[in-house]
Amino acid sequence: MERFIGIDLGTTYSSVATIDEYGKPVIVKNHNGESLTPSVIYFDEFGNTIVGSEAKELLQSGEENVAMFFKRFMGDDVFRFYAHDREYTAKELSAILLRKLKEDAEEALGGEVRNVVITVPAYFNDLQRSETVSAGVEAGFNVLRIINEPTAAAITYGISRSNNQRLLVYDLGGGTFDVTVLQITPDTIKVLATGGDHELGGKDWDDMLINCIVDQFRTEYGADPTESVEVYNDLAYDCEKLKKQLSSKESATISVRYNGMRGRYTITREKFEELTEAQLRSTKTMTEHVLEEAGLTWADLDGALLVGGSTRMPMVENWVRQMSGKEPLRGVNVDEAVSLGAAIQAGVEMQKRGSFRLGGSTSSNQQFRLVGSKKIVDVMSHSLGAVAVSEDGEKYVNSIIIQKNKPIPVTERKDFLHHTKKRQDNDLEVYLTQGESTEIRDCIVVGKYIFHGIDHISNGETIINIEYSYDENGLIVVNGTQQESHKMLQIEKVPIGDDMGWLYEKPRGKGLPLSIIIAVDLSGSMSGKPMKKAQDAAIEFIKQIDMTVHRIGIMGFANKSKMFCSSTNNQIEAQKAVSRLDCNADGVGYGNSNNPLSDSIDIFASQPDTKNILIILTDGVWSHPKDAIKSSDYCRQVGYEVVAIGFGSADKKFLERISTNSENALMTNLDNLVDSFGSIAQEISQSGGASGLKWNK
Ligand code: ADP
Ligand code: MG
Repeated sequence: MERFIGIDLGTTYSSVATIDEYGKPVIVKNHNGESLTPSVIYFDEFGNTIVGSEAKELLQSGEENVAMFFKRFMGDDVFRFYAHDREYTAKELSAILLRKLKEDAEEALGGEVRNVVITVPAYFNDLQRSETVSAGVEAGFNVLRIINEPTAAAITYGISRSNNQRLLVYDLGGGTFDVTVLQITPDTIKVLATGGDHELGGKDWDDMLINCIVDQFRTEYGADPTESVEVYNDLAYDCEKLKKQLSSKESATISVRYNGMRGRYTITREKFEELTEAQLRSTKTMTEHVLEEAGLTWADLDGALLVGGSTRMPMVENWVRQMSGKEPLRGVNVDEAVSLGAAIQAGVEMQKRGSFRLGGSTSSNQQFRLVGSKKIVDVMSHSLGAVAVSEDGEKYVNSIIIQKNKPIPVTERKDFLHHTKKRQDNDLEVYLTQGESTEIRDCIVVGKYIFHGIDHISNGETIINIEYSYDENGLIVVNGTQQESHKMLQIEKVPIGDDMGWLYEKPRGKGLPLSIIIAVDLSGSMSGKPMKKAQDAAIEFIKQIDMTVHRIGIMGFANKSKMFCSSTNNQIEAQKAVSRLDCNADGVGYGNSNNPLSDSIDIFASQPDTKNILIILTDGVWSHPKDAIKSSDYCRQVGYEVVAIGFGSADKKFLERISTNSENALMTNLDNLVDSFGSIAQEISQSGGASGLKWNK
């Protein structure tokens, strides 16, 4: 039989358990015979390590190269612990701790232990979970599963209970606080909701004590003992001890030595409870928040299960009793429930893999048999989304794909519009977010994925199905297909990038596709060279516009207007229409009594899904300027943009008046017409183009 263990990899203390030969979950003691190993590592100058209680004592005796609380920095790519010119990430530190736990377990169990289930806080994100897995692998483990700590505790509690119960797990550890609501039935353990504060734990109670002692010392001697790192470390160690004493005694005493001064202070439990009331209160706020999210009240619950070393403080028990109106549930050891649950889960995984079978059918393994038959349904505490462009194109938003508290494994899909171009790779960048709000500011970007192999679609618009999954370990899997071709896209996970400031800016070039009408004056004065130049300029313009995204219509106007081609994505068609522009064209006349603006308005009104731009090219004065000005005011009102380019005897003032703003009016000469028009095209493509991720309406 292959050996396996469950590990509660705690912020302050870690614990190991297995299933014994009778099918019973049991704690595996470390080489000191302790059931808890402090999550503390000491480094000597040769790179050797000492893990656990000895390391904690070395810290107290003034050693500096001691790492602790590193679990708080899992997934933080900036955090480094330095010891003797070497630096360590939180993942590396976790691997060192795990390796030691593995060695101790092997000593206790009498052989190699490869298989493990490691627990993580329910709020751990994808990066923190995957780093935990790699730390396990680095330590030489085969990581069977990652499970949530409160779920593990609930397994330990719920496995031997066959009645229906709905309960809340209140887990207050050394550095974290977790709340989970679960439903236990004869055949399932189902997590209904989870939440927590990963910066609230026993350490904060210690800190309040430290502050209080330092204040008293300062009052007595006028000196701050925490100016010395060594004295501070001592004080931190002693205050944790003092705190624990206050769990069983009404008062306890601590002494502080600093620069020859010595203070002795007695703290009562009452005083301690007063000092830490705010901390206790925030656990209540968090608890109520999770209950609210689950749509439950205390009346709907059978009780609260206390887990985590800090729930040994009488104030916590009283508080939970007061809050819930019920006696806290008993039956699990607050320090051991998590690792025992992990061991049970490890047993289930081994059974699934066929590498662990229970011996005979003696009643002693009944407890474990129950495990195998109980289905465990867990949830994740974060919603997952993608950065998308808001519907109005004005900003980036978070578009949630998987809502939090959905039973895992879970897969959800959302469809996004993506613009494609001919002869380009059309890759789509997907930024994976974690957060509950549509506001980007309230979310964090946890991953960047590039979707490769998107085919160009002739109208320049394709639908990409983005599929997110949480697997059974709570790890994220991203998939994508192109809807039109049902093609699975190749997905590459890449670093997020340092400069994410663009998230808070207005999306550039990611607005609506454009519909442009080029309206060319066909009055008699244009014939000959002006007409030829105007055509060259229009052709140049068309070349510069990305017609896989934008559309162009060609209008000629004199006494009447005529569309030489209506809005098209076809570049050749638009160019041919330009070449047909002619002062002798059928039915337009020779004068300037037409108002091309009003005719364009009708066309624009029929295409609501585009940003509309009218570009007028004219060489003279029109017969009815007031009508044109009126139409221009209307365009401004409804958001159609007007650009007017004049040459010859055109009037600059008039052009300014019919343009959206004075920058949109341009006087040029025939020789510069091609260039001027070209630069307008460039500007338009840069500021108003459409590409990237966008809401699929
Ligand atoms: P974690 O999983 O975060 O490492 P644990 O569940 O192991 O945390 O709990 C550790 C915390 O519990 C520490 O802050 C420790 O000081 C505190 N603790 C342990 N025993 C007691 C006690 N008897 N009274 C008060 N606090 C305790
Ligand atoms: Mg814990």
